Amino acid sequence: MLERKFNRRDFLRLSAVSLGALAASQAVAGCSGSNMRFSRTPPAAAEGEAAAAAEGEGEAAAEVGQGEAVTAPAAHAAPAAVTGKFTSAQGLMFLLQGNQRFVSGQVQHPRRDAFRRADTLGGQTPFAVVLTCSDSRVAPEVIFDQGVGDIFVVRTAGNIAGEIALGSIEYAVEHLNAPLVLVLGHQKCGAVSATVDGGEAPGHIKNVVEHIAPAVERARGLQGDLLANAIDTNILETVHQLRTSAPILAEFVNARRLEVFGARYNLDTGSVTFL
Ligand SMILES: [Zn+2]
Repeated sequence: MLERKFNRRDFLRLSAVSLGALAASQAVAGCSGSNMRFSRTPPAAAEGEAAAAAEGEGEAAAEVGQGEAVTAPAAHAAPAAVTGKFTSAQGLMFLLQGNQRFVSGQVQHPRRDAFRRADTLGGQTPFAVVLTCSDSRVAPEVIFDQGVGDIFVVRTAGNIAGEIALGSIEYAVEHLNAPLVLVLGHQKCGAVSATVDGGEAPGHIKNVVEHIAPAVERARGLQGDLLANAIDTNILETVHQLRTSAPILAEFVNARRLEVFGARYNLDTGSVTFL
């Protein structure tokens, strides 16, 4: 299966190129690197600046896409998606920086104070949507070291996108202008494992298993560990589902207003591997 671990060198390279582009556009998000403090700039007012920032990041994003850091985001060859206050490149960088802090034990627990509560009282402008598993070990705000109002989280067993989850993601993209969706599966996922094991699932658990089953069947044709392959295949299938989902998400992807990535969270290291 195609995948590449996001190692420290890759991270530093991405940080360097993205931070370079961000330096000229800090007014967009009112932020600076990991110490960013998001302003309450109305999305409509920031749109022009954000678009300019995205243009500036085009070259950097292309460099990342051609390198060895991320294999899946072929979309990175084009300028970063932008829809409102943030670009997808900014959103991706914030997630990577936060995960790096989590892995290295240097978490900042940013934007979790009374000021932030007050600042977000009038509305939310999350820089990313994270669709991940309900597994209690995979809490997005924790593993990405983010705060109140930063990420729009949708969680289901097996990180699958049924009708309600899909509607939730569409809401975040269309109404809240989130430019990035990350589908995050994880090592040793119980929902995928149960599907691999087969047998009759009781109650509504059956719905979860049935949703994951096609990915498991496709994974059976791959070499290597079946569960690991099934977990990755399930992530990639969901990424494909979201990128092609009509009417809303596919339109936003085609209009370069949304990027969808897939990644796996590694329980043992705390790191995130992009697929
Ligand atoms: Zn899981």
